[in-house]
Amino acid sequence: MWNRKKAKEMDKEYRYNLRLQIQSIYGGKCVRCGETDPDVLTLHPIYTGLPERGWQLYRELLQQPVLRQFYNLLCMNCVMIAKLEKMNYFTEKTNERTVSYREKKQKICQLYDNRCSKCNKQFPYWIFTIDHPNGDGGTERHNRKITGMFNLPYEELVVRLNSGELRLCCPNCNMNYRESSKWITLAMSRMDNE
Ligand SMILES: [Zn+2]
Ligand SMILES: [Zn+2]
Repeated sequence: MWNRKKAKEMDKEYRYNLRLQIQSIYGGKCVRCGETDPDVLTLHPIYTGLPERGWQLYRELLQQPVLRQFYNLLCMNCVMIAKLEKMNYFTEKTNERTVSYREKKQKICQLYDNRCSKCNKQFPYWIFTIDHPNGDGGTERHNRKITGMFNLPYEELVVRLNSGELRLCCPNCNMNYRESSKWITLAMSRMDNE
């Protein structure tokens, strides 16, 4: 039976397939580190000001091959590194990235040997994120009016990281990339039932 919910899922499936198609045109791996997990690969514009995301971008790249030269395929970790290199993380002072913020983040990452708790790989400290394995980070950030978990006090972060309530994660491991797997499983089970 066709209904709105199903139409939405089919649409997601179409977008996901389009994304995979574009990724394979770009060689299917991150140009910087070679990561091949399609769920963490994304297009990164080589000039600032170009559209950065959205499935319409994938459609345009499919239809207009001339546009492809303006993008690279990168994983989330390498996107973070590329962005921070561009904005000059170490000299620019934004709300979040004051000297004390950077020092706090650096100290915390050093406690964990600059290793991601999920993939166990080492990264430059500035790309790390904090994962809530048992909860909703978005709700906590909203309730405590913070833009990121590294805004919390150092002592609190250490206690919560040591207890396992929070985990230090690289962007590839922390992003909500299992969404796509969830609906693919759903779509497959639906097809089996029909
Ligand atoms: Zn990469
Ligand atoms: Zn990781």
